[in-house]
Amino acid sequence: SFTIAIVGRPNVGKSTLFNRLVGRKLALVDDTPGVTRDRRVHEARLYDLRFQVIDTAGFEDVSDESLEGRMRQQTERAIADCDLVLFMIDAKAGITPNDGAFAQVARRSGKPIVLVANKAEARGAETGLHEAWGLGLGEPVPFSAEHGQGLPDLREAIIAALGEDRAFGPDEEEAAAAEAEIALVGDDVSDPDEDEVPAYDATKPMRIAIVGRPNAGKSTLINALIGEERLLTGPEAGITRDSISVDWQWRGRKMRLFDTAGMRRKSRVQEKLEKLSVADGLRAIRFAEVVIVVFDATIPFEKQDLQIADLIAREGRAPVLAFNKWDLIDDPQELLAELREKTDRLLPQVRGLRAVPVSAETGRGLDKLMQAVADTHEVWNRRISTGRLNRWLEGVLAHHPPPAVAGRRLKIKYLTQVKARPPGFVVSCSRPDAMPQSYVRYLVNGLRDSFDMPGVPIRVMLRAPE
Ligand code: GDP
Repeated sequence: SFTIAIVGRPNVGKSTLFNRLVGRKLALVDDTPGVTRDRRVHEARLYDLRFQVIDTAGFEDVSDESLEGRMRQQTERAIADCDLVLFMIDAKAGITPNDGAFAQVARRSGKPIVLVANKAEARGAETGLHEAWGLGLGEPVPFSAEHGQGLPDLREAIIAALGEDRAFGPDEEEAAAAEAEIALVGDDVSDPDEDEVPAYDATKPMRIAIVGRPNAGKSTLINALIGEERLLTGPEAGITRDSISVDWQWRGRKMRLFDTAGMRRKSRVQEKLEKLSVADGLRAIRFAEVVIVVFDATIPFEKQDLQIADLIAREGRAPVLAFNKWDLIDDPQELLAELREKTDRLLPQVRGLRAVPVSAETGRGLDKLMQAVADTHEVWNRRISTGRLNRWLEGVLAHHPPPAVAGRRLKIKYLTQVKARPPGFVVSCSRPDAMPQSYVRYLVNGLRDSFDMPGVPIRVMLRAPE
């Protein structure tokens, strides 16, 4: 998989192209005045190409100097993070000094660049196309984002710039999605094809998302965690940040926070955007490894409030609960015991889920919360050797073997961990179809307890011996 950044001066049509590639009406810019964004990453496709797009658009129509400066900064970051730059110009308007400035930034990065000449269908665009050569970014691809013309040529140019191997390489997001479809306990069991457990890489930032209902305190929590100054907030009204990420460190550990509504500054248009942020929340979950679910502890919660945690587990991510506004609680000990009992009862699929009382406002509990996140992340990445697993299995089979079905004993041959992130195991057994779910659950609970894996989804697949 690869990542594309769409780059260019304001108003050349980046958002329209972005929307075409992402295939949804995601741009929040359209007709809501004053709504701007900085960076967003989205899954996208162009025919058979699958990739991610970083959108740097959105500062159009804003003349504020500091915003322009910020836009340039965001552009530089997007270029640094991408594998390919789609550099867009407006062929109708021709080349401006601003195009030159952006082109220089793109060229200096050394990244492969595809020059896209937008509005090529317009009268007088030939001149612009001709001028575009002068940017030193190679041959411009004539394009019309609005009319969707030039997409096949764009595809060709992307493949040529990246090389086929890179352009058609395995897609991590797709693999992750496929992984999420591997049966959970209680669902149909199907065959995983992974035989390798991906290695845990501590040098990579831990990817975290923060979700929760409006007013649960997400923004306050994020600001408390990473510090207000790290956010791109300014005096301008309505700067939004939908699925963007922010990097920071916690006790020397690199963290990357994917957020949705939480990083958004409050504004008049917020309400209008609330609907979109639900989908963004789901996307943030898919990007994340650990997801912090923020609750307002002053409001009693019901089973349905925990559905988000269930969804996170189903997506193969590890939830951690934060009970916020703890400073307002009168009888904290009693409430905490009650909340923990409730979550374990209602979420058996992630038994031992970490739930931490915090006050985003005073900062109390935040260190414990981050410790819980780091611990959960470690469990989520856990690998257990086949030797240990099978020594354990021997004991299990000796004390509590699978039942006989239709007069025949079910045999379990061996147990291996085939994947991590989250932990996934294959049980090799004589008749996978006949194995009762209750016994599979028994194995999952046993694995969770014996190998100390609280709070993460654990997958067990049954497989007939080859
Ligand atoms: P979001 O919609 O989830 O981002 O929620 P906000 O962060 O905007 O917080 C909603 C309200 O709750 C604001 O008025 C915050 O000041 C308040 N709040 C957030 N965290 C705490 C906390 O730990 N204690 C108290 N007392 N108030 C909080």
